[in-house]
Amino acid sequence: MSLNIGVIGTGAIGQDHIRRCSKVLQGSRVVAVTDINREHATKVIRDLGIEANVYADGYEVINAKEVDAVLVTSWGPSHEEFVLAAVAAGKYVFCEKPLAVTAEGCKRIVEAEAAQGKRLVQVGFMRPYDQGYRALKDVITSGKIGDPLMLHCAHRNPRVGENYTTSMAITDTLIHEIDVLRWLLDDDYVSVQVVFPRKAKHAKAHLRDPQVVLFETVKGTRIDVEIFVNCQYGYDIQCEVVGDIGIAKLPEPSSVLLRSEARLSHEILTDWKDRFIDAYDVELQAFINDVLAEKLTGPSAWDGFAAAVTADACIAAQENGEIVPVSLPQRPAFYNK
Ligand code: NAP
Repeated sequence: MSLNIGVIGTGAIGQDHIRRCSKVLQGSRVVAVTDINREHATKVIRDLGIEANVYADGYEVINAKEVDAVLVTSWGPSHEEFVLAAVAAGKYVFCEKPLAVTAEGCKRIVEAEAAQGKRLVQVGFMRPYDQGYRALKDVITSGKIGDPLMLHCAHRNPRVGENYTTSMAITDTLIHEIDVLRWLLDDDYVSVQVVFPRKAKHAKAHLRDPQVVLFETVKGTRIDVEIFVNCQYGYDIQCEVVGDIGIAKLPEPSSVLLRSEARLSHEILTDWKDRFIDAYDVELQAFINDVLAEKLTGPSAWDGFAAAVTADACIAAQENGEIVPVSLPQRPAFYNK
C-alpha cells in the first residue's frame, strides 16, 4: 500500500521532503502540494517530474480526498493552523519544527489531538533518527557507562546571516538539542541558566555569541550546551555523556583519514544539511511506515510542546541571567510510550 501525501509549503525543506517522499523512500507518493506562491509549487513538482495536484491553500490540501497524510513545511507561524486543521480532519500530519511558535499554540494542538483519541501528529525533530545519536542512546540504555551524570554538548555553525538574533540561538539552533537530549536521557528539564562568555570577534554587533546553556534535569543530570554560531571552522555537533563508570561520545561523521603534507587529518563538515541528510530519510520513512501501521512512534506533539516551554525558559534566562525553572505539566498518559 502507498501513502498519498499532501505538502504545504514548497520552500527549501518542503522541496527536499517532496523529492524524498517521491523518489527515495518506500511506500509513499506526493499527490498534492501548495505554497503561498502557487506558481512556485507548480514549478517545484514540474522540476522534480512529479504529477500532483496544486491547490490554492493548505486547507484545500488537507481536505483533498486523495490526501491520506499531510506534511507541513511552510514558515513557522502558519504551522499551528494547518496542524489543527489536519487533526480536525482526522489526518496524520508531519509538521516541521516548530510545532507552533508559542507554547500555548503547541498546547492547543496537544489538546486537539487528545480529543481525537489517537496520535496524529509527528514533529520534525530529526536528530533521534541520526545513526550516531541512536548508537549513543543504545550505549546509555545498556547501562555500560552507568547513570548519566553530566553531558557536555556543543552546537557550532561557521557563521549566520545578518538577521540571526540572540534568541534565535535558542529557537532555531538549541531547539534540536532541547529535543534530542530529553529523548537521549528519557528525562525532562527542571531549570536552565544561560551565561555569556567573552564575545566572539566575528559575531555581528547585535548578537551575543557564543553562549552556554546550563540545564538541570528531573533526575539531577547537569547539561552544558555551548552554542557558537560564528566559529568559522565548520558545522560541529558534539555530545559527551559522563556516567558513573564510563564516558560515551557521539560519533564523528565518517570522513576520510588523510595523510598529506606532513599532516594526519579529517575534514570537518561546514553545512548542517550534510550532517543530518541521512537522518531526514530515516525520519520520513519512519513516519510513512508508522502511518501505514496506524501507530505513530516519532517525536510527538507533546515533545513539540515540551521544546517550546523549554525554549521560553531559555529565552527568559538569556534576558535575566538567573536560573529559570522549566515548568512542564505532567505528561498526559495519552503520550506514554
Ligand atoms: P522556506 O524556504 O522559507 O520555505 C517555506 C515555504 O513556505 C516558502 O515557499 C513560503 O512561501 C511558504 N509559505 C509560507 N507561508 C505559507 C502558507 N501559509 N501556506 C503555504 N505556504 C506558505 O523555509 P524552510 O527553510 O523550508 O523552512 C520551513 C520550515 O521548516 C520552518 O519552520 C523551519 O524551521 C523548518 N526547518 C526544519 C529543519 C530541520 O532541521 N528539521 C530544517 C530546515 C527547515 P514564501 O517564501 O513566499 O513566504
